[in-house]
Amino acid sequence: MSDQILGDGLREWESPLYHETVGQFDRVADIMGLDDNIAERLRVPQRAIVVTFPYRRDDYSQVESLFGYRVQHLLSMGPTKGGIRFAPDVNLGEVAALAMLMTWKCAIVGLPFGGAKGGVRVDPTNLTRAEKQRVTRRYTAEIINFIGPNKDIPAPDMGTDEQVMAWIMDTYSQQVGHTEPAVVTGKPPALGGSVARREATGRGLVSLLPAAARLAHLDTEGISVVVHGFGNVGRYAALAADQAGAKVVAISDISGGVYNGRGIDVNEAMSWVDLNRSLEGYAGGDRISNDDVLLLDTEVLMPCATGGVITDHNAGEIKAKLIMEGANGPTTLAADRILNDRGVLVVPDVLANAGGVTVSYFEWVQDLQNYFWSEAEIVGRLREILSRAFDDVMSVAVGHKTDMRTAALIKGIRRVADAKLARGVFP
Ligand code: NAD
Repeated sequence: MSDQILGDGLREWESPLYHETVGQFDRVADIMGLDDNIAERLRVPQRAIVVTFPYRRDDYSQVESLFGYRVQHLLSMGPTKGGIRFAPDVNLGEVAALAMLMTWKCAIVGLPFGGAKGGVRVDPTNLTRAEKQRVTRRYTAEIINFIGPNKDIPAPDMGTDEQVMAWIMDTYSQQVGHTEPAVVTGKPPALGGSVARREATGRGLVSLLPAAARLAHLDTEGISVVVHGFGNVGRYAALAADQAGAKVVAISDISGGVYNGRGIDVNEAMSWVDLNRSLEGYAGGDRISNDDVLLLDTEVLMPCATGGVITDHNAGEIKAKLIMEGANGPTTLAADRILNDRGVLVVPDVLANAGGVTVSYFEWVQDLQNYFWSEAEIVGRLREILSRAFDDVMSVAVGHKTDMRTAALIKGIRRVADAKLARGVFP
């Protein structure tokens, strides 16, 4: 069906990740016997904005043009919510797929949002701080009519951070004429950001480790963990795993991996990256390639870098018994089938990395009320929501005799379908 839809003049979404995401949706819609009319609506995003805009390099005479995107997959559940990524390969199809995944993720953990995603096709490592600020502010100005606390609330993703969110919030506030913290989440705490948002995705991922390890028949004491990707998600996942008594034996980033069988000193590695921007030159273990990092002999693998890293080419050689997806879409559909057949337990992205959007939801609620919670309160509520979602997904998995990814998607899609059926068709 996805090929038919893509072939019916909707080629603008064409991208490997969109194919994967729609293919996954079609499979699950079929299993759960989803109403055909609802399935057709959910297969494509409700709204997509493509902008091109100029920005000045620090050399004032040099003006470059960039592509930017914001896709809102579903407007029926409340405002839309999702990150903004700055990366050299961002395209409309990828952003559309990620927006759809956000819809399922919010529905799985029970948040009152539809999914969205945004991006600018630019290599952020190639921008000075001033250039990045100009790109951010102009991109925000281009999409300003489509975002807002009750419309669509961006957050950080690959290549963006608290500072970028602060610039978006400032640009939006300047335009509307008053300070509006609730327009973005993942801001610095001084601007109404959550004290625990930065760590939320990695911390949330690791909070599910004991329950997932039990299912995979693994002992959590000293359990070996490999973390692929050492950015916002990966570094706090590694830190939380270390603090929970696991042994983090390898970490990696775009510059390659570091392996240490006695355990990586995660705090030291974080300080190194803060000073040097990457793990390049870090001497806390043996240097290995990113491909080898994924194939290490470990009990748990946490892919926390980017999409499509576990494919049918390497899935058969992965030695981990448990994969917890910190990144969005790290496993292709073909790889997923291989891992399932091999009995590897995969805790899927839509559940495993939902800690980020959950604490973003808390941040938005606190901004709207101007009433801020303590870190302990935030972390406690995060654990409660994720652990309830995990148990609910497991009940669906047992009921349908299926894997966790299918079960999570059944749960999310069911909630969305119920809401859409209750609202009906306008006019
Ligand atoms: P980030 O930019 O902070 O970090 C990305 C990390 O991955 C960096 O260490 C980078 O060097 C590394 N990397 C990039 N490409 C790589 C490759 N091909 N091989 C190995 N390492 C590579 O991004 P982030 O915010 O940590 O996001 C990472 C993933 O997690 C993305 O898929 C994102 O969509 C997803 N995610 C992020 C959040 C969040 O709160 N930031 C929440 C949910 C999901």
